[in-house]
Amino acid sequence: MTFDLQSLVRNNIRDLKPYSSARSEFSGDAKVFLDANENAFGSPAGDDLNRYPDPLQTELKRQIAELKGIDPSRIFIGNGSDEAIDLLFRIFCEPGRDNAIICPPTYGMYEVSAAINDVEVVRASLTSDFQLDADAISAVFSPRSKLLFVCSPNNPTGNLMDRSSVLEIARRFNGIVVVDEAYIDFANQPSLIDRLSETPNLVVLQTFSKAWGMAGLRIGMAFASEAIVDLMNRVKPPYNVSQIAQRAAVDALRNKAWVDARVIETIAERRRLTTELRRLPFVSRVHPSDANFVLARTDDADAVYRYLVDRRIVVRNRNNVELCRGCLRITVGTVGENELLLKALREYPAAKNERTFKAEILSK
Ligand SMILES: *Cc1c(COP(=O)(O)O)cnc(C)c1O
Repeated sequence: MTFDLQSLVRNNIRDLKPYSSARSEFSGDAKVFLDANENAFGSPAGDDLNRYPDPLQTELKRQIAELKGIDPSRIFIGNGSDEAIDLLFRIFCEPGRDNAIICPPTYGMYEVSAAINDVEVVRASLTSDFQLDADAISAVFSPRSKLLFVCSPNNPTGNLMDRSSVLEIARRFNGIVVVDEAYIDFANQPSLIDRLSETPNLVVLQTFSKAWGMAGLRIGMAFASEAIVDLMNRVKPPYNVSQIAQRAAVDALRNKAWVDARVIETIAERRRLTTELRRLPFVSRVHPSDANFVLARTDDADAVYRYLVDRRIVVRNRNNVELCRGCLRITVGTVGENELLLKALREYPAAKNERTFKAEILSK
């Protein structure tokens, strides 16, 4: 399939004359900066926060490039991956006309972002073992389909999508294939970043919100061809990543050993949680996970969910999600948190019997 990026881009974006910020017009070394109407006296918030941040996050990209073995020109940094998802809709999907393909059950933000941008979503559900269904995708694909979202490891099911199927679908699909790798650091498989050069329609999303422990900073990454990254940079708000976020991320990248150790701990706890959950009489299945959460099928997800909330433990109820009936999505916590969860769950059958017993007495 011949891939022509420019023919996929909306006309208004192709013709866009991007905003030229003071910081992008002059980024050299000067003695006096009187070009951006900042407060020259300083900031009550401290440090150098009176100055606008680097619009292209040069230092952060340099470090990410080194870590991931990719050229900085192929990196986009956003205010969370959610910003990257929204930008892809705005660049490629003509509102009220084009569509995006999603593969449910999957991350809810693709659909919300589509709705905000007035873009139709078409569904090609995963197979019963939560893999991509290439035939279902081909069946819904039309010339109006501009984006295909693949989440791997998938939220909420936790599994990786088969690498060769993703690449095969990307070869056949004449739109942009977005592979969301928010949980790839926990996975037993490398990122698809290494296939970017031979897959011009691939965008790989990663985030600092999960393994890197910086959900509060809001930093997401997109890896793609230089041409796609250029488009994203043209459409994003000029100063989309704050100075505080850029600096904190640059500092954190020097401490990858901390992250690696937490990932190892998380994987060990994931294994323990899986084993222990499988022992519970009301849990029929715990799906194998390559992420930092597990999906457990119970005989009554709503009841177990409410019982846990009463114990002040919150998990994610996925009972009403396609292919996830009875399922709770449980994030892997610290050893202590997981212990509290497991203790509560082990006491659930007795608590449930007691409640049924009380209800019977009251009804007499
Ligand atoms: C958590 C998550 C993200 C992260 O989004 P941010 O905006 O970067 O915090 C992205 N994709 C999926 C599938 C997620 O579960």
